[in-house]
Amino acid sequence: MTIKINEPEIRRLIQVRNAKRVVFNAPDGLLPITRELGSRLESDYPGLKTIFIADSTYGSCDTVDFDAQRLGADIAFHVGHNVIVPSFGKITHSIDAYDDVKFDNVVKKAAEEFRKIGIRTVGLTTFAQHLSEVENVARFFEEEGIKSLIGKGLGQLHDGQIFGCEFYPAFNIKDRVDAMALLGQSMFHALGVALSTGKRTFMLDPYSNEVVDVQQNADERLKKSILSIYRARDAESFGVIIGLKEGQIMTDQSIKIKEKLESLGKKAQLIALREITSDRLNALADIQAFVQTGCPRISVDGYTFSKPVLSVPQTDALINLLSGKEIETTIFVRKHWL
Ligand code: SF4
Repeated sequence: MTIKINEPEIRRLIQVRNAKRVVFNAPDGLLPITRELGSRLESDYPGLKTIFIADSTYGSCDTVDFDAQRLGADIAFHVGHNVIVPSFGKITHSIDAYDDVKFDNVVKKAAEEFRKIGIRTVGLTTFAQHLSEVENVARFFEEEGIKSLIGKGLGQLHDGQIFGCEFYPAFNIKDRVDAMALLGQSMFHALGVALSTGKRTFMLDPYSNEVVDVQQNADERLKKSILSIYRARDAESFGVIIGLKEGQIMTDQSIKIKEKLESLGKKAQLIALREITSDRLNALADIQAFVQTGCPRISVDGYTFSKPVLSVPQTDALINLLSGKEIETTIFVRKHWL
């Protein structure tokens, strides 16, 4: 397997802009090859300086346009989240990166299993690195006698693509398929597909050649998420956290949540944080529960918090609960978790 960054596009933009100072940010897994590329660029373009912002970046919400400007960059490249939009902010361009691993073996295995358990139509989803393989996978399934559907992209998402918090292409086909498949080695994304569609979901891992039914994991995640809502019900004081990452800031929605909680008899204070971690929340010791409009996966996947920290779908369920309604087990069955 090799991951390839769209280097020609980077070179084209450097030349068009006559850039002398370039900032990169990339997920940890792509940082080594991005840094190698930076060294090559410095030798090919005399006078060019490349700077790598090595803070974590988990999604296209996590760009560094403002920091790149403060560093005096002419241009910035956000690598590897492969979104439809070509640019962010003032100087940042989205640069695609693709993994060339093939799915033919794992599709064969999946098709065998699907035939055994009566799955005739499967919805195909994936994340950035495998987008170039989705059409091939559909063809492999067709050859194996399994019909597949690829949902239309929307907003930043390509056809078949999902983020950890945005699922339009999966959600929009869920009622026309027997099961969903997530292409790639990512339990994180597979659980997102399972929870947002409410369909049985299989992770097709092309590296280990395994077909993993993620239902049990998804059920556990859902159970823990619902338990947190019940725990939050009894809290008197809430922190309403606004994520400070560039693509996360949702001040108006957070203010509405604060006002809603207050109207239901709770105390609520607005808090802004770049990284929502136990350490930072421990500094707010008098607050009994948190809701957050930053990244919903911090709540759904984060087991390290000693107090409830609810995502937007959980917060909506909490507000319903406080208003006398029951919590549904479909709280995450939505297109977007923000
Ligand atoms: S908010 Fe979270 S899940 Fe959504 S793109 Fe950002 S990091 Fe990914």
